[in-house]
Amino acid sequence: MPHRAAKKQVERRKSGRRIADGTDYQQALETALDNLPLGVALLRMDGRPVFFNEHFCKMYDIDTDIFDWQMTFDEMIDKGHMEDWKQDPREYFEDLYKTLAKNNDFKAEIEIGDRIIAIHNVRLKDDLMLSTQADVTERVRAERRVAHMARHDPLTDLPNRVAFIEKFVTAIEEARAKHQKLAVLSIDLDRFKDVNDIFGHSTGDMLLQTVANRFRDFAGNSFPARLGGDEFCLISTANNQPEAGAALAAKLFENAAGEIETERGTLMVGLSIGMAIFPDDGDNVTTLLANADAALYRAKEEGRGVMRSFSPEADARIREQRTLQSDLRQALKRGEFTLHYQPQSDVENGITGFEALLRWQHPGRGMLLPGSFISLAEENGIIVEIGKWVLREACLEAKTWNKPLAVAVNLSPVQFRYGDLAQTIHEVLLETGLAPNRLEVEITEGVLVSDFARALAQLRRIKNLGVHIAMDDFGIGYSSLSYLQAFPFDTLKIDRSFTNKLGKDTHTDEIVRAVIGLGRGLKLPVVAEGVETSEQLEFLAREQCKAVQGYLVGRPAPIADYADIVGAVNKAPKSKRAVHG
Ligand code: C2E
Ligand code: CA
Ligand code: CA
Repeated sequence: MPHRAAKKQVERRKSGRRIADGTDYQQALETALDNLPLGVALLRMDGRPVFFNEHFCKMYDIDTDIFDWQMTFDEMIDKGHMEDWKQDPREYFEDLYKTLAKNNDFKAEIEIGDRIIAIHNVRLKDDLMLSTQADVTERVRAERRVAHMARHDPLTDLPNRVAFIEKFVTAIEEARAKHQKLAVLSIDLDRFKDVNDIFGHSTGDMLLQTVANRFRDFAGNSFPARLGGDEFCLISTANNQPEAGAALAAKLFENAAGEIETERGTLMVGLSIGMAIFPDDGDNVTTLLANADAALYRAKEEGRGVMRSFSPEADARIREQRTLQSDLRQALKRGEFTLHYQPQSDVENGITGFEALLRWQHPGRGMLLPGSFISLAEENGIIVEIGKWVLREACLEAKTWNKPLAVAVNLSPVQFRYGDLAQTIHEVLLETGLAPNRLEVEITEGVLVSDFARALAQLRRIKNLGVHIAMDDFGIGYSSLSYLQAFPFDTLKIDRSFTNKLGKDTHTDEIVRAVIGLGRGLKLPVVAEGVETSEQLEFLAREQCKAVQGYLVGRPAPIADYADIVGAVNKAPKSKRAVHG
């Protein structure tokens, strides 16, 4: 029956059945389906099952012997069979029917208990649908872990910078759309570096974790994040700003700061907080963060443990200072420092020497006086390098003078704290060849206040080199007198705040008189600073103050202005000046 056979083949091709003749294809199919690593179910549209493969039964713990094959989806829900679904099953089925009604495949990932199932449902002809289901729990968990890690800080599990910025961007967009405000708080732990340095990193880590947990606990509806190190940020989306932000800060001070138990004992944690408000203090992430940071910087400057709001004026000033401070690092390398020299005059002998005063020729700001940068240089320690340069430069300069006049150099307390100052001075003297007794160093009582013993030891060694030591700004400190007793100074310089009140205030006149008398008693030459008028000079002469310094004698100026006094004949330009000479 060739004809009939051919016809049958055609029929088979049409039906697409790929199974050999004579096979019990139902049995074969069942076996094949059972061996699939997927759950397969054939269901009526109302949920009544027609067929489950073995894997499906395992997935749902179905005992086919006692299974009620007439149960519909609705009945399953009613009987509580879908209670462990994360999602509402009625919504799920609604979705399912809608999709299938459009003749589309339905795909979903649903969470049932602690499992995640990927479902693919296809509507077959008539009243049937085929559901293939795979347990994708492990894969999804791994994906979620990776996604979580990418957005969270591993130490504290708080959102990291990436997540924070994302959240901040959307929060700003939402606030803008609703015409609302929001606050961003920039937080930093006071002296966290000390904890790390003194107690070690594991204690530091523990501290960060505890603080992070407290932020989480007390953040309320705000969004806390760790941006790095001990830098935390919170976004408060409440509308009543800045009150809500300030209240949040107060809550954190009360609950997150304070004692923390660590393996190394109880530590005290202090917070400093800076706050910026959208849209008042900026309308984008970058500006708001920078302004919250500026406010934080000010909070730290103004005593730590406080919250400061962004203020354009205050923060501009601080930003300027910070820029100036970072410029300082370059200034030495670029040769932007110079010295001006102010003469010191003796009633009998005329000009006896010069005080070297530092000037900074700033590329953008012109000539800067030490009052605007010395404290910044002390803060970051760069004064040590600058001070060394001043010493060398002043000694080199004095060495070129024909007259053996003295040169006075100011020293910062910070120079006494780091390195070996006496050694530095010794080296500079050897290197420049200046006679030690022509160098005078001026110190203020600040040098002795911070570390008395160390400073005293250094001063003795400096004095032993033959260098003179002057007590500068005498009278404005608290204990200048007791320091006079502790160390044999060579000169006493009366602060100019006394000089400029001479003749105007009897109290001041008395003090100056007493100081000059004291100098006479201790056989200690007294120099009056800031002498501007001949009246002041006459007063001092009457009291037998032998030495003066001030605008009346001469202003601080480049040494070239005093060339005739120092007797510099054919002075070589600085760059060609020999180092040993
Ligand atoms: P100082 O040691 O008391 O220096 C004297 C200051 O008084 C100088 O200010 C000088 O210009 C000013 N002055 C001098 N005569 C008069 C006067 O008749 N009237 C008035 N109104 N002022 C007068 P300058 O140069 O601005 O220096 C300020 C301070 O900066 C110095 O006070 C000193 O403490 C510090 N300083 C200057 N150079 C250096 C340095 O190289 N190293 C360190 N560490 N500090 C320095
Ligand atoms: Ca001085
Ligand atoms: Ca002074």
